[in-house]
Amino acid sequence: MVACADSARAPQALRTATVADTRARQQFGQPRAANQVLRHRMADLSVLCEEARAMTLGAVALVAAAEQDGDTNARSLAAAAARAKVAAAARRVAEEGIQLHGGMGVTEELTVGRYLRRQVALEAMFGSAEAHQRRHATLSVERARAGGDRPAAMQDDDAALTAFRDEVRAFLAEALTPEMVRAARLNPSVFSEPEIGMPWHRALHRRGWIAPSWPVEHGGTGWSLAQRWVFETECAVAGAPALSPLGLRMAGPVIMRFGTPEQKAHYLPRILSGEDYWCQGYSEPGSGSDLASLATRAVRDGDQYVINGSKIWTTHAHHANRMFALVRTGGADTRKHEGISFLLIDMATPGITVRPIRSVSGDHEVNQVFFDDVRVPVSCRLGDEGQGWTIAKYLLEFERGGAISAGRLRAALERVRRLADAGGSPGARVAADPDLALAFSAVEIDIRALEMAELKVMSTLSVGQNPGSVSSLLKLRWSEIHQSITKLGVRMLGADALAWEELRPMHLHDDQAVLDDVARPVVPGYLNARAYTIFGGTSEIQREIIARDVIG
Ligand SMILES: Cc1cc2nc3c(=O)[nH]c(=O)nc-3n(C[C@H](O)[C@H](O)[C@H](O)COP(=O)(O)OP(=O)(O)OC[C@H]3O[C@@H](n4cnc5c(N)ncnc54)[C@H](O)[C@@H]3O)c2cc1C
Repeated sequence: MVACADSARAPQALRTATVADTRARQQFGQPRAANQVLRHRMADLSVLCEEARAMTLGAVALVAAAEQDGDTNARSLAAAAARAKVAAAARRVAEEGIQLHGGMGVTEELTVGRYLRRQVALEAMFGSAEAHQRRHATLSVERARAGGDRPAAMQDDDAALTAFRDEVRAFLAEALTPEMVRAARLNPSVFSEPEIGMPWHRALHRRGWIAPSWPVEHGGTGWSLAQRWVFETECAVAGAPALSPLGLRMAGPVIMRFGTPEQKAHYLPRILSGEDYWCQGYSEPGSGSDLASLATRAVRDGDQYVINGSKIWTTHAHHANRMFALVRTGGADTRKHEGISFLLIDMATPGITVRPIRSVSGDHEVNQVFFDDVRVPVSCRLGDEGQGWTIAKYLLEFERGGAISAGRLRAALERVRRLADAGGSPGARVAADPDLALAFSAVEIDIRALEMAELKVMSTLSVGQNPGSVSSLLKLRWSEIHQSITKLGVRMLGADALAWEELRPMHLHDDQAVLDDVARPVVPGYLNARAYTIFGGTSEIQREIIARDVIG
């Protein structure tokens, strides 16, 4: 662990030196820090630094907990995961650091080269990233055969937390029906269809547990960070359907922050109960990544706005009764970010047309929404006229961060492991194939690193701070990890990947099934997962946000 901490320290210093150098020296008449290729490479270095740091801190806690339990496998697994991640990060940051310094990077004069020499020495003494990864893969196979990984990073349980976990488990055993779990597992699309997600939403609402992250005065649970972690992890392990984030994690937080007392009193209880189902009207045919160029116009007419234009990729607009939308209210003389307002729209308003767009897997999740002279009361504007961009930026950080996704990713990986086990004894196929064992191990380590970073963001949110660009890091990583899990799933299927099911929802169309339940959603799930690095801001845009934070 000491070697790990030493390796984790170096990338931070290297990144700082590299950023400073790209800012200071010019090429082609501008600082190299202005070049997007270099900016994105430095954003990736930043991600590696954050992961290395989070992984080291988390491993210290995991190793201590495993020692306390006398669990030698867990101890070695945590240490091997941290060493593999941190050594790989340190080596890559050092090599990239030299590359981004140019010729100066390979001189004795600068410290960057010395970091690389030090990293080579550390690996020679304590093992390379590859060696630790192989060790992790072997230990992981042993663990999987014995019943699985430790579920979460929160190991320092006290009696109250254990009692809380028991309470959550008792509730799940009673309220989460096998039908709900099966429907969720057979759902290959990005969001749960309302008929899958809403029964669970209502069960949580009845119990008073629907909005753990909300303040108590608005219907939150008042749970500590550790309790929220336990709750989310237990739900993931039990296979509970994912809830739509559009009301609970997007509309709700912005209404709380920017809404009038009347808006809060009207909308928030309806989000909690599930009476209102929201969609997000941001993207337009001509405005995706450059969202501020949006052209849907709202013209003031007395105490109403008259909206004309179109929104696209609107998830679940065909189910929603409410939309939060960005519209242009400023004139041609207003700067583009300032002329935008944020409206809360009733989807039943005359003039709104919703047209389906089918995804590559045949699923209907997204739509194009047309507005033809749609009249919306001015009282449905959130915040001031022209404040829409500020509100949208605040909301995007909730969209990208603040979720606890590691538990769900781990549960998804376990399902892929079961696919690998099909027809054989548990773990046998992975144990017999070192290449496959390494592939599983790499994803496991990535999930562990994400878990640590998520904990860090949660603690930021719990003291009322905005997560900032770390939420971009989380979005970048969980979307990529999710994609790699689905890819591994397709690899496990082999020729079964040729089976294709047309009808949705799958759990109501068992007559078309040629594969078992674990295998059925794998291929459409993989295809739909391509969207993860696109929606909520593409990976390239996330890298740009991180770069802006780190480089300026
Ligand atoms: C499944 C799904 C669900 C969605 N749900 C919603 C929703 O509910 N509501 C909503 O409003 N929107 C939604 N979206 C839209 C999503 O937010 C946009 O697709 C996304 O912002 C990208 O915009 P675009 O598709 O126009 O791609 P573009 O912006 O045209 O980007 C195309 C490519 O160019 C790259 N690129 C663009 N600009 C830059 C740049 N400056 N630097 C580097 N690379 C760049 C992008 O990273 C991408 O790789 C959804 C999208 C999907 C796929």
